[in-house]
Amino acid sequence: MARFIFITGGVVSSLGKGLASAALGALLQARGYSVRLRKLDPYLNVDPGTMSPFEHGEVFVTDDGAETDLDLGHYERFTGVAARKTDSVSSGRIYSNVLEKERRGDYLGKTIQVIPHVTNEIKDFIAIGEDEVDFMLCEIGGTVGDIEGLPFFEAIRQFSQDKPRGQCLFMHLTLLPYIKASGELKTKPTQHSVKELRSIGLAPDILVCRSEGPIPTKEREKLALFCNVRPDSVIAAQDLSTIYDAPLAYHREGLDQAVLDAFQISPAPKPDLTKWEDVSDRIHNAEGEVKVAIVGKYTQLEDAYKSIAEALTHGGMANRVRVKVEWVDAEVFDTEEAAPHLEGFHAILVPGGFGERGTEGKIKAAQYAREHKVPYLGICLGMQMAVIEAARNAAGIKEAGSEEFDHESGKKRFEPVVYHLKEWVQGNHKVERKVGDDKGGTMRLGAYDAVLAEGSKVAEVYGGTAIEERHRHRYEVDIKYRDKLEKAGLNFSGMSPDGRLPEIVEWSDHPWFIGVQYHPELKSKPFDPHPLFRDFVRAAKDTSRLV
Ligand code: GLN
Repeated sequence: MARFIFITGGVVSSLGKGLASAALGALLQARGYSVRLRKLDPYLNVDPGTMSPFEHGEVFVTDDGAETDLDLGHYERFTGVAARKTDSVSSGRIYSNVLEKERRGDYLGKTIQVIPHVTNEIKDFIAIGEDEVDFMLCEIGGTVGDIEGLPFFEAIRQFSQDKPRGQCLFMHLTLLPYIKASGELKTKPTQHSVKELRSIGLAPDILVCRSEGPIPTKEREKLALFCNVRPDSVIAAQDLSTIYDAPLAYHREGLDQAVLDAFQISPAPKPDLTKWEDVSDRIHNAEGEVKVAIVGKYTQLEDAYKSIAEALTHGGMANRVRVKVEWVDAEVFDTEEAAPHLEGFHAILVPGGFGERGTEGKIKAAQYAREHKVPYLGICLGMQMAVIEAARNAAGIKEAGSEEFDHESGKKRFEPVVYHLKEWVQGNHKVERKVGDDKGGTMRLGAYDAVLAEGSKVAEVYGGTAIEERHRHRYEVDIKYRDKLEKAGLNFSGMSPDGRLPEIVEWSDHPWFIGVQYHPELKSKPFDPHPLFRDFVRAAKDTSRLV
């Protein structure tokens, strides 16, 4: 039976709750325990798949095809445990389940209420697979005091009461603001936040306090006294230069020890932190730097491409170089020349995206990379744009475009080199889609196999010809154009096992130009960089040596 750790936040949002949870997961693993991390989000969307990356950051896709919060990406990157559909839930999903049951008659005769029906649904979710791991870490999104978070707080309160004493622990993350004028770290907002928690029946066992500097003894004692936690359970979370120092930093501050103490696990198994020491060493002792342009649409919010930025960092770690990412807004060269914006980069990456805005710029970026022999990695939409570029400028299909943009504008303007996917095979059944289908959860989602061509660049990069990668797309390169494109030099080097869906394209006469229909960034880890990112950064490093 798992022990449960509930992670809540107070004072302000964006304190790095997801990261703290992920780092704690990694530390428990380092002590020999198995872990699983979960995210419970109070918003009303059924999943974040329908939210704009501008608002909510990237959508993280799991192997089993769920569109989830980007914190699940942190969890995977730190623990290596593949997230599942059952590791992410929102109020929207909970309510939708409850209402479905109500209609079905599961609660016949009863009045449906937040307590117990909604809270029971949340508790059932938390308990899924509780026998599988030693520790289950559940992070509650938002901050204490949010109206929509209340059912979740109530559910975890009840849950801990339902379990035997000592099986659940509450960890609360807050901010200690530093007032420059008086040179003080202020504890009052944390006190208020804990007071708020206690008013709904939750008493934190551990306080993790974000602060610019160390927490002086006086403030630590004050927090312990007023918030009713032990002084050694007040953990300082100082700002770090890289997130990958978090496990070591939290360990130094005694977080994992405090957790094991709270569960009365004694003697505590000794941690093996060599993996994280190596990760930290690679980040801090990089030799040289490569400059990579990410040509995208959501460049104002870095979280929109979180996993890509992290995967590039991992690629850098594998090659012992620092990867300096610059965000280039594709829309700028919809109308302008691309070259002046792309000169000086050692590699170009065009990420995934939706909608037509910025796509002419992305096509120009692909053309620039092809013509100037700059390493290019196109991901999902970035692959589709590379194919359209090849069709227009190398295969003579002047009107080539994507049906996605015609559907959006309601006008037929393009020859659909990229078309709307109507059916595909998943496992041993056929999935079918129509253009007017609902938007939520209907893309080709999750892990699918692909077969790589022997002797291709990608087969060399992966070191094999059978791969499984995560997908999230509605449109697809049309196999009809394969011959024309291959004659022009763009090879279809990876296909779905039935040979119908192009998964990878690469230019034969280019040092490194690869487009993939899937999202390799989702599977990259600091201690196990994804082969494509490892080799893409290696190619960028080679380019940097040429100039
Ligand atoms: N919009 C494209 C599609 O649906 C690409 C999706 C993506 O980049 N994730 O196929």
